[in-house]
Amino acid sequence: MALTIGVDIGGTKIASGVVTEDGRILDRALRPTPTGGPELVADAIADAVTELARRHAVEAVGLGAAGFVDETRSIVRFAPNLVWREEPLRKKVAELVGLPVVVENDANATAWGEYRFGAGRGESHVVCVALGTGIGGGVVLGGALYRGRWGMGGELGHMQMVPEGLPCGCGNHGCWEQYASGNALVRQARINAAADPSSAARLLELAGSADAVVGQHVTDAARDGDAVALAAFEFLADWLAQGLADLAAVLDPGCFIIGGGVSGAADLFLDRVRADYAARLTGRGHRPLAGIRAAELGPAAGMVGAADLARLR
Ligand SMILES: [Zn+2]
Repeated sequence: MALTIGVDIGGTKIASGVVTEDGRILDRALRPTPTGGPELVADAIADAVTELARRHAVEAVGLGAAGFVDETRSIVRFAPNLVWREEPLRKKVAELVGLPVVVENDANATAWGEYRFGAGRGESHVVCVALGTGIGGGVVLGGALYRGRWGMGGELGHMQMVPEGLPCGCGNHGCWEQYASGNALVRQARINAAADPSSAARLLELAGSADAVVGQHVTDAARDGDAVALAAFEFLADWLAQGLADLAAVLDPGCFIIGGGVSGAADLFLDRVRADYAARLTGRGHRPLAGIRAAELGPAAGMVGAADLARLR
């Protein structure tokens, strides 16, 4: 059986795994992400890959990186969190490990993993939306990962939803991820807890203060019926539904997959997203409704997807 290695390069850790043809992870190696520049990151990736390649006969390596990856899947053009610019990651790692390497945007790798082995199995047109710090997007059309002309397609989080809206890390205003990400959920809960503490009693009990609210507090408080926490999920659901309805107008997918950290609380908001989506959809009543499903592979989706893309390189 052909084995490949998938590597998920995160801001704090580099998670690597040996993955089978059917998406099972046989072995893992973990390294902290060095902060001293791209050379050190390439060294750490190579170190983890070499460790795994000593234990398993692997044929290729797929790297998932948070950033804009060029259309040849070689160069990370711009990675804000890793502070990379025009980084030839494929060449560096390939030279260090002596194996074929492909580089993929991390959200694309996640979408591919879910499409092949997770919530998108059996579908051919899939849009994956990962809710975390921002919104990561990946699009599979007709069974192929859609990368766009320059490899930069699928940046769904930066569709402008609100003209002159909230400032975004990308430099624009009103991007979708400012309204429907995990960070947006927390921001909304903090604002409303500060403005109306009596409606956020449970949330404030868990967090200590409005400023100290994090995502888990919002989830836990919502499960206990806290009004502000529930309203924050409704805010997220409504903005998420609007974005999905817009994407359906353009892409007409068979299903949407909602991933990222927030998807662990999918039971708190997905029903509302489905109803809201159906109510906002253009051509509603005359077009089939795409499924809206929670991701199934969790944090491993990017690693599994990157490994599979390396196999199919
Ligand atoms: Zn933006």
